[in-house]
Amino acid sequence: MSTTSELFAQIEGLYDEMVAIRRHLHENPELSFEEVETPKFIANYLTELGVEVETGVGGRGVIGRIYGGKPGKTVALRADFDALAIQDEKDVPYRSKVAGKMHACGHDGHTATLLAVAKVLQTNRELLTGNVVLIHQFAEELAPGGAKPMIDAGCLDGVDAVFGMHLWSMVPHGNIGWAPGPSMAAADRFAIKINGRGGHGASPHETIDSLYLATQVVSQFQSIVSRRLDPLQPAVLTVATFNSGSAFNVIPDSAEIGGTVRTFDTAVQDQIIEEMDRVIKGVCEGSGATYSFDFFKGYPAVVNHEKEAHLVANAATKVVGAEHVVQMQPIMGGEDFSYFLLERPGAFFFTGAGNPDVGATYPHHHPKFDFDERAMVDAANVLIQVTFDYLEG
Ligand code: MN
Repeated sequence: MSTTSELFAQIEGLYDEMVAIRRHLHENPELSFEEVETPKFIANYLTELGVEVETGVGGRGVIGRIYGGKPGKTVALRADFDALAIQDEKDVPYRSKVAGKMHACGHDGHTATLLAVAKVLQTNRELLTGNVVLIHQFAEELAPGGAKPMIDAGCLDGVDAVFGMHLWSMVPHGNIGWAPGPSMAAADRFAIKINGRGGHGASPHETIDSLYLATQVVSQFQSIVSRRLDPLQPAVLTVATFNSGSAFNVIPDSAEIGGTVRTFDTAVQDQIIEEMDRVIKGVCEGSGATYSFDFFKGYPAVVNHEKEAHLVANAATKVVGAEHVVQMQPIMGGEDFSYFLLERPGAFFFTGAGNPDVGATYPHHHPKFDFDERAMVDAANVLIQVTFDYLEG
């Protein structure tokens, strides 16, 4: 038997404990930047294992360090642990005990998975050629997020490569999803206000019609992705809010437009901002209106490093078999794992966790979101396999 198949057997033996941890966290969710008991629970668990623990990293993060029996490289494995401001509508014994708060993205499962990995790696640390850093991250769900402050606090010091994982209810349990490059988008937000001059609906010639100008802006925005960007660059510019006016016979003073921009490349992101400004400026200045344009950058895109992504795909093949390793299209949602990948080589992968038999059919952030807890075993095994493959590669 190979080294890792023995460790996979140990993960299997920890399944009930993983489920118990996951359900404990699920019942007691804490929101981003408000995590108190969750990091305490993680730190206690790791301390009891004999893992070297650092708390309060970058705010509320927890770091564990496992030192292998032989010197070598250092791999970091990351799991996030925050919940969302959503009312849990599942009818299960482990539903959230906190009104209006819920683990609706699976971060409870990420934490339980990484703790089981920690237990197995710490118990078998003599087998490791190198070290493992466990990054338990706070506040993934809310920008500016916990990844950046944890990096600033030194969580990647001495780390050669970093790997992360998301349980994914939209992929059937049993499969592992990966991507060799762009994996999740930069998710930005914008807010525009056009200030014209209101007046009587019967006398448009005496006004500067902000509502009409705003429609010109929305309409010309549609040409940015279709006529200004390189057609081989994926991007989304969505206008999602349009607010102006309140009476049928009054031309409103102002109009407000809001929405989101999703990109995978910072040059494309910059170009979109520039083009948006050009459109708004042209429409407003040509008509005597003024405007404000605020663009709020969210997390950067998650772009996997090719070599490490292939390492994940290879490791996943050993765990679930080649026919269950799926190359995924990039997802237009965001993730602050991106910050780790801007600092170190690494990759982020998706563990299939959907299963209608256990009610795991809802998308992430849905009030009935749940996942197949067996997926935690796949995830733990891939993380262990990647660790060994990287350290021995
Ligand atoms: Mn998430």
